[in-house]
Amino acid sequence: MKILIENITDEGLIVDLEENFNLEDVSLSSPVEAHLELQRMGQEIIISGIITTVAEVQCSRCLKDFRNNMDIPMNVVYHPLKDMLVESHELKGDQMDTGFFSGNEIDLQDILKEQILLNVQMKPLCDENCKGLCPVCGTDLNVGKCSCVQKSIDPRLEVLKNLLEKRKE
Ligand SMILES: [Zn+2]
Ligand SMILES: [Zn+2]
Repeated sequence: MKILIENITDEGLIVDLEENFNLEDVSLSSPVEAHLELQRMGQEIIISGIITTVAEVQCSRCLKDFRNNMDIPMNVVYHPLKDMLVESHELKGDQMDTGFFSGNEIDLQDILKEQILLNVQMKPLCDENCKGLCPVCGTDLNVGKCSCVQKSIDPRLEVLKNLLEKRKE
C-alpha cells in the first residue's frame, strides 16, 4: 500500500491495513496487520503505531519450528532522501528511529517489512527454559533423556553397585 505524501493532512492520517506478503528470510504464518498514524512535520513524516503478525521461526536451541507472535510498536521519523546528503543533519526526537523516503509517496509495505526484519530475534527460543539438544547424540532433551548424560554422572553409583554385588557373593 502506497500513500501519497500530499494525502497526509495536518490532522494526520490513520491507516489500518492487513496485508499478505512474504519476506525472504522470515516466513509469516498470518497476514500482517497494522494500525498506523502518519503525520507530517515540515519535510518529515512521522509514522507511529503497532504492527502485528506471526512469524514461523526455528528455536536456536532445539531447532524446533514454532510460531512467534510479534507485536511491534513503531515510532519512526522518515526524512526525504535528499536530506541524507546534508552533512549537518539534525535529528529530532532522540528516542525515535530514523528512516528515509524518496519521491512523493511512501510505501507502507516496505516499511512493514523493514520493521518486521528489525524485530525478528537473532536467537529465537521456543521457550525460555528450552533444554536444547544433547550435544553428543542430538536427542531433544525437552522430550526425553539420553544415555550420554547418564554415563557422565554415574561413576560413583557404579562403584556402589560393584560393592553391593560383591557382598552378595
Ligand atoms: Zn527450543
Ligand atoms: Zn545424548
